[in-house]
Amino acid sequence: MMSEHSENCIFCKIIAGQIPAKKVHEDDEIIAFHDINPAAPLHLLIVPKTHIETLADVRPADEAVLGKMMAIAPRLAFENGAPPMPEGGLRVIMNVGPSGGQEVYHIHLHVLAGDKPWRGFAQGI
Ligand code: AMP
Ligand code: ZN
Repeated sequence: MMSEHSENCIFCKIIAGQIPAKKVHEDDEIIAFHDINPAAPLHLLIVPKTHIETLADVRPADEAVLGKMMAIAPRLAFENGAPPMPEGGLRVIMNVGPSGGQEVYHIHLHVLAGDKPWRGFAQGI
């Protein structure tokens, strides 16, 4: 399912400014903010402004914004304290559907960095 905005979607409400978030980036297509329940020292969410429920609902017209989400992830991570390359790095994750651990049905990329973010992943980010 896909529509421009969804009334009961928490990320659409953040995009609309109806719910506060610690934003680290916003442009005409995407928004990024700190996860309210961080699973690593740095835990950002990168979210398209269009309401797309899951990765399984992505259409060809969405490919550009998904690429933008991936491409901006390292820059936002390093700007917000991820340890620099070559020794440092980050982790990007997208949960898809109930079996994939998705809780918010508006597509989002998790960006994790800091001390051993993979422990958070093991707990089911
Ligand atoms: P997922 O399980 O992949 O759907 O992840 C949803 C994520 O959204 C979780 O890590 C939550 O902590 C996060 N989250 C839920 N509500 C908010 C909110 N209001 N602001 C920031 N992050 C949120
Ligand atoms: Zn939404």
